[in-house]
Amino acid sequence: MSSSILVINCGSSSLKFALIDTVTQHTSLTGLAEKLGLADAQITFKYQGGKAVQTLAAGTHAAAMHAILGQLQELGLFDSVRAIGHRVVHGGERFKASTRIDDEVIAAIEDCARLAPLHNPANLLGIHTALESFPGLPQVAVFDTAFHQSMPERAYLYAVPMALYREHGVRRYGFHGTSYRFVSGEAARMLGKPLEDTAFVCAHLGNGASAAAILGGQGMDTTMGLTPLEGLVMGTRSGDIDPGLFGYLAGALKLDVNGVTELLNKQSGLLGLSELSSDCRELEDAAQAGNPSAILALEVFSYRLAKQIAALTVALGRLDAVLFTGGIGENSSYLRERVIKLLGFLGLQLDADANQRCIRGQAGCITTDGSVPALVINTNEELMIALDTAALVEQAR
Ligand code: ADP
Repeated sequence: MSSSILVINCGSSSLKFALIDTVTQHTSLTGLAEKLGLADAQITFKYQGGKAVQTLAAGTHAAAMHAILGQLQELGLFDSVRAIGHRVVHGGERFKASTRIDDEVIAAIEDCARLAPLHNPANLLGIHTALESFPGLPQVAVFDTAFHQSMPERAYLYAVPMALYREHGVRRYGFHGTSYRFVSGEAARMLGKPLEDTAFVCAHLGNGASAAAILGGQGMDTTMGLTPLEGLVMGTRSGDIDPGLFGYLAGALKLDVNGVTELLNKQSGLLGLSELSSDCRELEDAAQAGNPSAILALEVFSYRLAKQIAALTVALGRLDAVLFTGGIGENSSYLRERVIKLLGFLGLQLDADANQRCIRGQAGCITTDGSVPALVINTNEELMIALDTAALVEQAR
């Protein structure tokens, strides 16, 4: 019986994909189409340890989807594909869970595009091209925001006029939800507890970074807001700032709103602080070599993260474990050490050897016996999307 799900993560100039067998949880074919819209667009396929690159003459998302279809047919994998699961960034308040895609769902995702103008249109392009290339297959949308829809009002409301919430959807939504769902499930398994009985603060630290308070598997609060700019220090994003900075910078630098937004999204964070790089690994190398700007940038990052983790415990009332995931969370023993040391008062105590061991795909506990555990967990958003898609398709049979 066919049991594979094709997972699509479509961006404005890229399209990532993975073919996942939801019974064995094995990923067979993966790949990435890049530079879509440009003359040198190309698509890379990885299969059984091998790699193949094709140029995409038309350079469009449709051409990329067509190449994926062709590759699936060539490798004899097409008949195993049961459905397609799409990552969709913003589901607003409309989507509290993953859903089968139909015309009404497409219209609702279009409506949410006003909240995520950079992401949702690209996600929709992926959906439309997949519907054209794979007309017979069921398609499912999995939303980054859905997990956080369980947040209570006190966590998601900004203290601005309520009319802005009612009329413009101004509230905190949160992102990285698919990762939080996967990682909290894994953490409960690692601790041998039912998910319903757990209270976690999870930090998803990649180029974009956020943290979330998760009680019994439900999102209670998170650091990202209306947009992914709020919260932690990130690769190139400032995270929390005084909103007064907008007016101040507009005056001081003669910038319009777009100019300030660009500065806070693209030139800030680790890059802005270090004046070296947005990449955590490069900064760590520089810090180990004694570079003061790199040390300072990582110091601000760790302090702000520790401060937010402590703040998020207020949403839980207790703390069963701190979870680290994402490229930085899964690899940076340097930052984890600094964060855990700042959280000693919450009962966390670092196991330095375990912390050094948990890198490059090695999951585990990095605190001592008797400490509140801190766990390193490898996220797998693609698998989560595939499992949701398979479950929804199964339900409909
Ligand atoms: P994205 O949000 O784009 O998915 P990732 O989750 O892949 O990003 O995380 C990218 C970040 O992880 C980069 O800052 C990178 O430097 C960092 N990272 C990856 N490996 C290491 C490592 N060994 N040590 C420190 N940081 C690392």
